[in-house]
Order: sequence, then structure tokens, then C-alpha cells
Amino acid sequence: MSNLSDVEKIVYEVIKRETENSGGIMQRKLKEIQELKNIRPRELQHIVKKLIKMNLVRRLRVSSNGKTSYFLQAVLKELTKGELIKISLDDIINIPCLTCKYIAICGTSKLHNPSRCSVLTRYLISKTLKSPSSSYNM
Ligand code: SF4
Repeated sequence: MSNLSDVEKIVYEVIKRETENSGGIMQRKLKEIQELKNIRPRELQHIVKKLIKMNLVRRLRVSSNGKTSYFLQAVLKELTKGELIKISLDDIINIPCLTCKYIAICGTSKLHNPSRCSVLTRYLISKTLKSPSSSYNM
């Protein structure tokens, strides 16, 4: 963190905050965040690349309706082998697939695919980050 410039720290803090609050942020939404509006898009992209290279941020590719976008998360803590994620009944009841209109046409070789579903990905990420065993302060 000490080798980041002030503006890089601000970008990282925004991504970290969004990760803690909602599991992360779509990269294209960064420029809409108030604190980052003065940063040129090209510079913002450069900073994100640097944060990824430093393993402070991870970028997940999300495909939806044929479009590819990128979801950013601050790297708060990696789960170690054997570490458990506690899941409550509420977590299961709230799985988005249970109320999804595409459930009947969703599957690994179908048009809608869980491995490319942004709704399911965001849900799983938010649950992983809210797990008590994965909380971590940088
Ligand atoms: S993976 Fe996505 S598209 Fe498929 S049923 Fe779940 S929420 Fe719906």
C-alpha cells in the first residue's frame, strides 16, 4: 500500500468499500463514483491494472447477454485449504436461481449458464465476503 500514489489509494479504497458493501463493483461503473469522477478513464484503467498486478484487486470476467464486462473486487483475504464458509438457511433461500425466470433453460450447455451468470456470481461473491471466516482488515 505504501508504494501507491494518493490517487491510486483512493481508487483502491473505493474498490475495497464496494467489495465490503456489495461484493465488488463493475469496472465500467468506477467512473460514476463521486470520488473518481476527476480521473480520466485511461488513467483509471491504468490504476486498476496496477492494483491487479499488485494483487490488491482481482478482476472477474462476467458474460451476460453476449456482452463481456469486468467485475472488480479488493483482495481481502484468500481462504486457506480446509477453511469453512458458514452458510445459513437464509443464504440458501435467497439463492437467485430459486426465483429466476430462466431456471428451466439454465444449465452448463444451455443459453443461460451458471458459470457465466452475473447474478449468481455477484450473489456468491457477496456471501463469500460476508462469511465471518473471511473478514479481514487491511
Ligand atoms: S445461474 Fe443465473 S440464469 Fe441460471 S438460474 Fe441461476 S440466476 Fe438464473
